[in-house]
Amino acid sequence: MPIQTQIAVIGAGLGGAAAASLLQQAGFHVDVFEQAPAFARIGAGIHMGPNVMRVFRQLGMEDAVVDMGSKPDFWFSRDGRSGEYLSRIRLGAFAEKEYGAPYVTVHRGDLHALQVSLLRPENLHFGKRLDAVTDNGAGVELSFADGTRVTAEIVIGADGINSKVREALLGKEKPNYSGWVAHRAVISSDKLSRYGLDFEDCVKWWFEDRHMMVYHTTADRSEYYYVTGVPHPAWDFDGAFVPSSREEMRDTFAGCHPVVDSLIDASDEVTKWPLLNRKPLPVWSEGRLVLLGDACHPMKPHMAQGAAMAIEDAAMLARCLGETGTRDHAAAFALYEANRRDRASRVQAVSNANTWLRSQEDPAWVFGYDVYGATLKSEVA
Ligand code: FAD
Repeated sequence: MPIQTQIAVIGAGLGGAAAASLLQQAGFHVDVFEQAPAFARIGAGIHMGPNVMRVFRQLGMEDAVVDMGSKPDFWFSRDGRSGEYLSRIRLGAFAEKEYGAPYVTVHRGDLHALQVSLLRPENLHFGKRLDAVTDNGAGVELSFADGTRVTAEIVIGADGINSKVREALLGKEKPNYSGWVAHRAVISSDKLSRYGLDFEDCVKWWFEDRHMMVYHTTADRSEYYYVTGVPHPAWDFDGAFVPSSREEMRDTFAGCHPVVDSLIDASDEVTKWPLLNRKPLPVWSEGRLVLLGDACHPMKPHMAQGAAMAIEDAAMLARCLGETGTRDHAAAFALYEANRRDRASRVQAVSNANTWLRSQEDPAWVFGYDVYGATLKSEVA
């Protein structure tokens, strides 16, 4: 007998976990199906701006995120060679007052574990890789690689850039390699003390055609994390990421500022990831299937807002389903797309262009957005 559920969420990543817990909170019967057998604390940080912290407030996890993360007073942009300041974007107390919530940088694994802990354990199913989706009009049939079958009233595809649910809507199409890679490393702050330099809480070092974003991932500042964006003609490796090295980083950032040089010198383990992309999708939903996050609008991570868009999507979708219930899912999905498409597409474009906060600009349109405050509009402009 197939498992029966009202709402099946495919993928328990940052977007899927947010959608599932918000919908559970609103009283829907929600089951989450995640391909991974369990989640690990991979070495990566993530920015959570006030626009996302508002959603975490709704989930009752805002204070826990604030407690676990670092709260930078500024986002600095600096020239990667001379160190000259290109912008000083006020965060800290200013962000709380101006945008109504704090700006936090945190370890991605810690954040994700907190999000997953909010899900009802009996409705979270690990080791479930979605293989096939059939919307038969009256409901959706799902089959998983382990032979399990599930029927659902509606399905939310939160299954990331290689989404199987997207494939059911739009056919098989690989994401595009953007021509860029990201190096990632987590450094113990103890190692940095020997350099006698000032390692600021949140700073993006800009070079002609590449960059390095650096910040703390823990409240006690014991971990410092960097992620780069570097042009690289082709992704000619197998797997989601490959090991990199201090030597490769030195070549990549030759002639860099002493602070960047020290970060490279202090890196024990560096990994290299391809940055993938898709053009904006022509549809976000069809029948009983709807997409969110990277399944819908993946972007290069240069604005640090990809997960933020997935979590905002989750909040807006839950809000729209709260208005209509699952019976009128078509109305909910239309409302959801009408209220998300413009913003997600704009962020996708700015992120891909890699211009965000390079020079002094007002970030209010991103950080000040309130998914709960905005009046719902019924059609895409
Ligand atoms: P994902 O997080 O990819 O989750 C998808 C989930 O679906 C996964 O758990 C996966 O295992 C599961 N899944 C996939 N296929 C199946 C299947 N067939 N069946 C079942 N489950 C499946 N964003 C920010 O907001 N701030 C940042 O600072 C930031 N930094 C980044 C740095 C880098 C280098 C990169 C690459 C991205 C960064 N992002 C950042 C972007 C962010 O990571 C993504 O936008 C975000 O993870 C998207 O969330 P999601 O839930 O849509 O997808």
